[in-house]
Amino acid sequence: MNLTDKVVIITGASSGIGEATAKKLAKDGAKVVLMARREDKLKALKDTIENDGGTALVVSGDVIKKDDFDQVVDATVKAYGKIDGLINNAGLMPLSFVEKLKTDEWEQMVDVNIKGVLNGVAAVLPKMKTNNGGHIINISSMAAHRYFPGGAVYCATKSAVKMFSEGLRQELAPKYGINVTSIEPGAVATELTDTITDEDIKENMQDMQNMTTLEAEDIANAIHYALLQPNRVNINDIYLVPSEQK
Ligand code: NDP
Repeated sequence: MNLTDKVVIITGASSGIGEATAKKLAKDGAKVVLMARREDKLKALKDTIENDGGTALVVSGDVIKKDDFDQVVDATVKAYGKIDGLINNAGLMPLSFVEKLKTDEWEQMVDVNIKGVLNGVAAVLPKMKTNNGGHIINISSMAAHRYFPGGAVYCATKSAVKMFSEGLRQELAPKYGINVTSIEPGAVATELTDTITDEDIKENMQDMQNMTTLEAEDIANAIHYALLQPNRVNINDIYLVPSEQK
């Protein structure tokens, strides 16, 4: 099996896991729709994918804004006539200890990491329900399984994504053949830690730099595996961590 002509929307496609996933899925024949705020990065990725023989559409937008998601869905349906998959990948991780009360950053995490996922589902569901099946993949985290320093709010958002995914699966898979997968990676080498403003946490993160982390491509491979399964198989969770991570 491969992903030929499957239409897949990927949020947070401008870097890291989203970018690697777009390349991987496009290489296997999927038509990928690239969403994030940095349009220049998305356009460069589209060029790379198309130079490699793939098909990509750029619709820049902010996952916090429902209207932006609706535009992505409209543009996707106009270009390709259907939506087979949604990868809710966009996320932020501005870690800090709760007592520092960085409430603006808590709000950003709740908005992007949780509401962004809900917005994505709300936007694609009416169209996906009319298909013969579909697949929604939410990028949760190892942070849904355990707390790490400064991660109380981030871990809460990723736990929410994991549990939401399970509820969504139970509601959608039996009724509409829409499968749902939660991907829960440990440390991956991406730009994610750039969102950290807290100096104490930044120092902590430097300790992690001696560890061999996962590559974004490792997560793209996990997403690809989940998407490749026949519709009768729902991969509920994929929890993958660097061999060196405790
Ligand atoms: P990156 O920082 O490389 O990617 C994050 C992506 O999210 C960017 O493309 C960014 O694009 C996009 N994004 C952020 N805010 C918004 C927004 N409001 N609207 C649209 N897009 C947005 O990090 P990763 O690739 O690592 O992160 C991807 C996902 O993986 C996240 O959900 C993260 O929590 C999760 N994860 C990462 C791990 C890691 O160790 N790296 C481990 C476990 C999970 P732009 O700025 O252009 O909008």
